[in-house]
Amino acid sequence: MGEDIGEELRIPAGIFSIWVESEFVSADVPCGTCNACCRSSMFIHIEPEEIEAIKSIPPEILFHAPWQPEGHLMMGFNEQGHCPMLVDNKCSIYDARPQTCRNYDCRVFAATGVAVDLKRQPEIAKRVAQWVFEHDSAESLEEEARLKSAAAFLCQNRDLFPPDSIPYNPSEIALLAIGIYKAFPRDSKMADTAIARALSVEMDRIDGFA
Ligand code: SF4
Ligand code: SF4
Repeated sequence: MGEDIGEELRIPAGIFSIWVESEFVSADVPCGTCNACCRSSMFIHIEPEEIEAIKSIPPEILFHAPWQPEGHLMMGFNEQGHCPMLVDNKCSIYDARPQTCRNYDCRVFAATGVAVDLKRQPEIAKRVAQWVFEHDSAESLEEEARLKSAAAFLCQNRDLFPPDSIPYNPSEIALLAIGIYKAFPRDSKMADTAIARALSVEMDRIDGFA
């Protein structure tokens, strides 16, 4: 992230102000021919009501999702880290693919500055380095910077939050930052403990809506 990759390799990520408001509504990622996330050692969670996805995946490659109620399933990956449903570089069950695949949006890393796990997911990291958001106003540019500051604050100040409230998984921490960054103060003179309190209140609020 922040790497100078050259203009020709940049990919428009969309208008930041629109994207950040809709991130929890619809992913709709302009993936093009990329399928990096299907080749990145991901466990795919499938909910019990995803009948079409469950019917389309051979039962022998599905297993019970740990720490989830009965009926929640998980699909793993092969020795190369590829999803077993990726055939000839394409999703073989595209129309019936799980909701987890539909929701995945690697732009969350570009927007928040949260680092992708480079060892496990170098292909996703490459794609993330290419995304560039557009801004329709000076405020939007400031908001992207504020989101990045909020994400960095969460990663660097875990000890100021209740135990286990800040995830370690990069996707989860990026999504948490997107959910709460509007509570991150514009006033940089605020003490870290006060910032953590404000963010914790927002975390409780969004938990209440979950
Ligand atoms: S890594 Fe990103 S761009 Fe590539 S397929 Fe996945 S979501 Fe789309
Ligand atoms: S089910 Fe399809 S979209 Fe989902 S990870 Fe596998 S190949 Fe990719």
